[in-house]
Amino acid sequence: MAPPSFSGRRRAAGEELWKCDLEQGLLRTNDGTRVTALSADWIGMLHISLIESFGETAQDVLYRGGYEWGLRDMTRGHRQLPTRSGSTDAMATEIKAALETWWGPFAGSGWSACSFDLSQWERRGIAFADLKNSVVAAALEGADQPVCHLCAGLFAGAVSYLARAERHAVEIECRALGHASCRFAIGPGTEIDSAESWRQQGTSAAEIARRLS
Ligand SMILES: [Zn+2]
Repeated sequence: MAPPSFSGRRRAAGEELWKCDLEQGLLRTNDGTRVTALSADWIGMLHISLIESFGETAQDVLYRGGYEWGLRDMTRGHRQLPTRSGSTDAMATEIKAALETWWGPFAGSGWSACSFDLSQWERRGIAFADLKNSVVAAALEGADQPVCHLCAGLFAGAVSYLARAERHAVEIECRALGHASCRFAIGPGTEIDSAESWRQQGTSAAEIARRLS
């Protein structure tokens, strides 16, 4: 008898995102890539284990892991790069569309919906990401600092690929601190370093976004 199988579907679109092969004990996406299902407890334990191993640099380990993940995910998917000949405004439109397409499978796999704001790309080279229900924040609720370093790295890696230049990211609001969503600023290192300094000084995300505009 054939083993039972099931598949993941994005309810609204009815699009199949991943398939379970119980005979081999594997989960795969539609393009055949092997994936793993992780619980919120596992995410929490990963962070605690890294903090125990690396101390204060654990957030750098998570960020760098996310960065490589985002960059390689874009590279592996042979994502269309924005055209160089178009205007900066047109490039922003292409990057926004590419980010939304890239994030679709993440959203369908439990990483929650995310919206991207490229309105400051033309003037400042800055993008904003608004992640509704971060699994990392859910696992580390009640923290006193933003905790979604893995997600910040993911966004930085993906935008770096699309911008053809290294971009940094910082989380300026986090659900783990009681905010409505997790908000990230992604852009050139100098601007993002300033944003992180402002955040550490207690500046609100709205004010940081205004200063980056
Ligand atoms: Zn967060």
